[in-house]
Amino acid sequence: MIASLIVGTLVSYYLLDSLAKFLNLKSIRTEVPPEFANIYDSDRYRRSQSYTKANTLFDIVSQTVALAALFIFWCLGGFRLLDDWLRSFNLPVIWTGLLYFAILCALRELLSLPFEIFHTFKIEQKFGFNRTTPKTFVFDRSKEWALSALVAGLVLAVILALFGSFGVKAWLYAWLFTAFFSLVLVYVAPTMILPIFFKFSPLQPGPLKDKITGLCKAQNFPIRELSVIDGSRRSSKANAFFAGFGANKRIALYDTLIANHGSEELVAILAHEIGHFKRRHVLQHFLFGQLNLFLLFYFASFCVSDPSIFEAFGVAKPSYYVGLALFFVLMKPAAILLGIVANFLSRKHEFEADKFAANAVGTPEPLITALKKLSRDSLSNLTPHPLLVCLHFTHPPVLTRIRALSAAGPDETQSFERCPVSTPILP
Ligand SMILES: [Zn+2]
Repeated sequence: MIASLIVGTLVSYYLLDSLAKFLNLKSIRTEVPPEFANIYDSDRYRRSQSYTKANTLFDIVSQTVALAALFIFWCLGGFRLLDDWLRSFNLPVIWTGLLYFAILCALRELLSLPFEIFHTFKIEQKFGFNRTTPKTFVFDRSKEWALSALVAGLVLAVILALFGSFGVKAWLYAWLFTAFFSLVLVYVAPTMILPIFFKFSPLQPGPLKDKITGLCKAQNFPIRELSVIDGSRRSSKANAFFAGFGANKRIALYDTLIANHGSEELVAILAHEIGHFKRRHVLQHFLFGQLNLFLLFYFASFCVSDPSIFEAFGVAKPSYYVGLALFFVLMKPAAILLGIVANFLSRKHEFEADKFAANAVGTPEPLITALKKLSRDSLSNLTPHPLLVCLHFTHPPVLTRIRALSAAGPDETQSFERCPVSTPILP
């Protein structure tokens, strides 16, 4: 009963997701939308459509293989065989649990690695985005694996120890620990984790730095550090991010972003990011994430103690670690639903941050230009199907954002501090 329910839900979602991708391919328009007429020539627009098609096909194939692999592993009794084999070493239970998870994760990595290699060195390469060398790729993956093993291993060891000591009641302590740990991670990520992958250098003094500092001052938004990171070593795609919170906030601009945008546009992009902080979106996302974790741990407490779930996966001897591993399969439908809610919230926040940015710099124009350039340079799909947007998009389609920005007049209901940086764009 439980087994068929899980299979039914996973297959239904897979079909819905494939339908969304199929409809997305169908909704590709051959003519350039009028807003993009002066920025996209028809040749480049055709390339963006080929890129969408290539990525969609890639997604469908990789997801089919992942789902098939899960069912094969399950049918062959993989969850039980792995447990029996590890138990034969008679290790302390936490070590058996850690190894159980480590092997499952290694198998998943092994399965997804060829797809990642294909995506980076075939698709991204073909469309001119990839700048990752095989050497950088190997180093990045090795560092990611080492870091994940360390962080996830530590968290898992504590969770298993809690379940070992307190039984099913441990779910609340496990959640409290995870919530605390994720807060620490957010705090240390900019100084301890991100530099493992990127080279940070301070933004050189000059008009751009002055404008950004002016914006932050006008918005009463203290930042500790303003850096440029070497994103161009891996991809030609541009990005920017804020990291940290409280007095530890840092802004990092990809060198590719600086190379392709004028200072007015860069300031508008940063004003959008500041909008996320000022409108408390960052805090809301964090709290929503913690609420998700709370619910998931609560459900996990049932999962680790229900014999029928172990039976459904063919596992003879119940244990907390196998229960948690099975929970990761079981929770997928719930995680998908929560993801859809989170994406909806995130899209709403994007509109609010856009509006904030337009008011902060006094005009929506630089942000509109920046959004157009970013879409053109990353060959974004300008006309995604609404079902795909609903399932996966954390950002609204760029045309919707541009239209909302163009339609919005000055916001009379809110008082924004105007940023004194609306001076000519740098060459
Ligand atoms: Zn945003």
